Amino acid sequence: MRAVGEEVVFVSGSDEHGTPIEVEAARRGVDPREITDRNHAIVVDLFKKFNLSFDNYTRTHNEVHIKFCQELFMKIYNNGYIYEQEVSQLYCRNCGRFLPDRFVTGVCPSCGYPRARGDQCEACGRVLDPLDLVEPRCSICGEKPVVESSPHWFFDLPRFSERLRNWLLSNKTLPDKVRNFSLSWVREGLKPRSVTRDNLWGIPAPFPNAGGKTIYVWFEAVLGYVTATIEWAEKIGQPSLWKEFWLDSETKSAYFIGKDNIPFHTVIFPALLMASGEPYILPYTVSATEYLTFEGRKFSKSQGVGIWLDQAIAMLPADVWRYYLVKIRPETSDSNFSYDGLQAVVNADLNDSLGNFVHRVLTFIVNHFDGKIPQPALLMAEDTAMLDAVEKTFTEVNNLLSKVHERQALETVMQLARDGNVYLNRREPWKLVKTNKQEAATVLYVAAQTVKALALLLHPFIPDTSKRLLEILSQSDVKISWTDRKLWTLAAGTLIKKPTPIFEKLSDEKLETIKTSQASSPS
Ligand SMILES: [Zn+2]
Ligand SMILES: [Zn+2]
Repeated sequence: MRAVGEEVVFVSGSDEHGTPIEVEAARRGVDPREITDRNHAIVVDLFKKFNLSFDNYTRTHNEVHIKFCQELFMKIYNNGYIYEQEVSQLYCRNCGRFLPDRFVTGVCPSCGYPRARGDQCEACGRVLDPLDLVEPRCSICGEKPVVESSPHWFFDLPRFSERLRNWLLSNKTLPDKVRNFSLSWVREGLKPRSVTRDNLWGIPAPFPNAGGKTIYVWFEAVLGYVTATIEWAEKIGQPSLWKEFWLDSETKSAYFIGKDNIPFHTVIFPALLMASGEPYILPYTVSATEYLTFEGRKFSKSQGVGIWLDQAIAMLPADVWRYYLVKIRPETSDSNFSYDGLQAVVNADLNDSLGNFVHRVLTFIVNHFDGKIPQPALLMAEDTAMLDAVEKTFTEVNNLLSKVHERQALETVMQLARDGNVYLNRREPWKLVKTNKQEAATVLYVAAQTVKALALLLHPFIPDTSKRLLEILSQSDVKISWTDRKLWTLAAGTLIKKPTPIFEKLSDEKLETIKTSQASSPS
């Protein structure tokens, strides 16, 4: 979107509240903040190494977020969409506290798994309430809890059923799967949802007499998209700029999530924004991926199935991982990460198609034209066809990315590199250079335009490679633009730098090294 000249703000953040962190902190006897500080720093560092171009990657335990959430929930409360109700809950007398979600473990009422958590049974996947557990135990001290009554604050979600349904039906840019899944949720009947928890770690609930309660993590984490934008606007010294992104009906917001998070983005989040009574924009699209498996198995931290990002980046350049992960992005159906697949893709796409094409063109220019982009003579049909393909690729990739079809967009860019190779093989400049140097010059001029186009088009996918190509072409200062044709051209006479291969094949030996070190030492 930046490449086509849109005003973009790209935000996300570490979701730091919630029971798992609090339980871990209680067990280790440390402040939850200690754990989240460490985790956030690790994540920020990794995202930087993988070149994610966030305008703001923040965290939910920060003042801007906490203040905004408290104010928004008070608006919703004052608008009459939040009410108080007594509920029965498990209480640990030994620890002197109520036990939400994972603070309780016990026997699953469904499958009999003995270590089911209060929020969900890991064995059968059933979503649970702590009171459902047979033989419940406090996760901290192991004591048997008692049932006690406590007030909680509920968001009256059913009152938004009709508005949500209308919005889901009228939003044509939501993927069908996402729309249908969300509509089925609404159709089954929405229930009031408790927005408070008896967690100590979290955002203090702002409602009257709600001392000691915090806001349920899922209800505040989604608001982080708004607060990350507010924080960004403050950081760049234009504190009201965030409103253009959230309160202007022309703005389009796109969300990239896993499919298990769909209802939070298409039901809970929009309903909260509606309930605020302010004209917040609702999601334009929600790109929810299906599941990715690792060598045919489910990723698992405890069983060491997967590869740690810090290890991955130590083995191969960020661009290789980025390329392969977009290539296998589970956009429309589940997909699988495999080392053999990684090797095949690196060798066929990055090394053979892209790397070879670029290298052939650039070394030829260095060897036969003193490193200067040659002046073209008369264009033949095949030359014009190649330049047309370049132009068409810009339009097509832009269209595909606007629809969040990332896999296809990447494939379209790679097809241009393949077309480039075919073009060279047909035109055979290595023969022409001996018989008709002018015609060889034309071919290399056209091929060089294609290399520059590839450098520009690859920018969002593999930014380091894009940057390196532009450097070799002496185009480091050029603006990445997919709409300004003048900027695509590589002028005749431009002196390029001596190229070195941009990718190398992934050998069997190297692949073995990567495989054996996978998941051996988690950070
Ligand atoms: Zn179960
Ligand atoms: Zn206890």
